[in-house]
Amino acid sequence: MKKSVKTLSFPVRGKYVVMLAPSFVVDFSYPEIILKLRRLGFDKVVELTFGAKLVNREYHKLLKKCPSGCLMISSVCPGVVSLINNKFSKLKKNLILIDSPMVAMAKVCKKIYPKHNVVFISPCEFKKQEAEGCKEIDFVINFNELKEIFAKKLFKREDKNLSTSFDRFYNDYTKIYPLAGGLSKTAHLKNILTNKESISIDGIKRVETFLKKGNFGKLKFLDVNFCVGGCVGGPYINSSVPLVVKKLKVRGYLRKSKQEDIPEIKKGLVKKAKGISLKK
Ligand code: SF4
Repeated sequence: MKKSVKTLSFPVRGKYVVMLAPSFVVDFSYPEIILKLRRLGFDKVVELTFGAKLVNREYHKLLKKCPSGCLMISSVCPGVVSLINNKFSKLKKNLILIDSPMVAMAKVCKKIYPKHNVVFISPCEFKKQEAEGCKEIDFVINFNELKEIFAKKLFKREDKNLSTSFDRFYNDYTKIYPLAGGLSKTAHLKNILTNKESISIDGIKRVETFLKKGNFGKLKFLDVNFCVGGCVGGPYINSSVPLVVKKLKVRGYLRKSKQEDIPEIKKGLVKKAKGISLKK
């Protein structure tokens, strides 16, 4: 079993790198959240978007070679993976055997910060389960838990010198990954698949109905999310604003980030992941 958040006491002591799912903007303010995480004692804070970029590259390579009649199903959402494993076992062979952005980013973090504990923060209820199979992840915290931790104000002494920017691996365009269809939109699939060859479906009911029909026609790629709207509809999102407002928040965050002046060293360069295999 993985260590759970209950074994973390705040403020934390030791070395920790936090990987933040980009859907955080629905529940928390940017960049204030980075400062708050540092005040809890987390010394490195990165975003998951670089992991998403690496995963996209692998998906693009695979789908480019995908012959007609070959259906590939995204495996970045553990909710969907669990659904297929439990209810649609015939489709298990169609799941793409590439790590999720969480696992990809954890591998990068362990390479760059080998002495740090890796903590993942997300709105997903399946991530703790997924992390149990990943040796690179030490702790998983959901947005509800983070909100409670912040409310308890278990901060270290106020430090005016703490940075409000992510440490490394900035990647702007994959900030829309938590929106349904975000993977397809950011993996440059338009260049290699036609509209009839790729579809995005979100929400467990719609996904189940689609899989039950089994009418895949010319489809080569199925981009699926368990939650309605994608991860912004995740169970540990606290905000009750309508989905359309959640989407606007994510897009606003993308716009804001694109305007930021990020030094080259902080950018998510693929060469930094050299030697890391994302194959399951
Ligand atoms: S869509 Fe829902 S179940 Fe899937 S990864 Fe996102 S939050 Fe988790």
